[in-house]
Amino acid sequence: MSLAAKTAVVTGSTSGIGLAIARAFAKEGANLVINGFGDPAAIEAERAGIEKEFGVKVIYDAADMSKPAEIAALIANAEKTFGSVDVLVNNAGIQFVSPVEDFPLDKWDQIIAINLSSAFHAIRAAVPGMKARKWGRIINTASAHSLVASPFKSAYVSAKHGIAGLTKTVALELATFGITVNCISPGYVWTPLVEKQIPDTMKARNLTKEQVMRDVLLAAQPTKEFVTVDELAALAVFLTTDSARQITGTNISMDGGWTAA
Ligand code: NAD
Repeated sequence: MSLAAKTAVVTGSTSGIGLAIARAFAKEGANLVINGFGDPAAIEAERAGIEKEFGVKVIYDAADMSKPAEIAALIANAEKTFGSVDVLVNNAGIQFVSPVEDFPLDKWDQIIAINLSSAFHAIRAAVPGMKARKWGRIINTASAHSLVASPFKSAYVSAKHGIAGLTKTVALELATFGITVNCISPGYVWTPLVEKQIPDTMKARNLTKEQVMRDVLLAAQPTKEFVTVDELAALAVFLTTDSARQITGTNISMDGGWTAA
């Protein structure tokens, strides 16, 4: 129970990678703030289910991660409820696929806000408490697209390269405060976010679903297998342990060899 009596905030944890990370932290004894969109009844069932399964306290905060004031209120709510935010996982993210010249302006702004600026706002709000307690773990969900690019993903690739830079900068600022800051960079993980981009990629490249999966999604992933959310959650848990206290400012790939090529 490496996280007993600690509090973790995981943004975008109603689904996919964030949900798996939240559940893995609960298994380690952390109280949780979960966040993200979805059907209210399903979210409440998940929240109550995690409490029951792992014997921890879990609150849901509906903050929209594209709104700075709501992000600050999310961190304040966590601190008020549990007394601290010890672990912050900036994970909320969306995708949009389009040739750059057609890229809708509102989609660009939304992706930069949710996939990049939200991490800045959450870190900014959580750091004073972490500094005062001289302990903290900040984990940003980046992507293989924080290291390499793919066509038609200008906003996403820009945001993810940005989060890699934010990670390094904040790691240096907090290095002497017992706070580590790292990003995790998955390759292709089988989640709703991947599933949702298949129709757009089919259209943009004129391919069938099977062709998109084999020749586009897994084309760059040498293992030819999707990463699982549980594998990513296990890495996130490791980064919270004392054994990982000297790991800071890194960008850890879990991408089946994608960025080695
Ligand atoms: P997902 O769609 O399953 O989950 C995204 C989560 O973010 C959901 O909980 C959703 O409700 C939440 N969210 C979206 N917009 C929000 C907003 N404005 N405010 C609050 N919450 C919001 O996707 P996922 O694959 O689990 O993605 C999680 C993270 O992992 C993202 O940052 C994504 O870029 C990154 N990532 C995913 C993959 C992949 O292959 N799935 C690969 C690399 C990186």
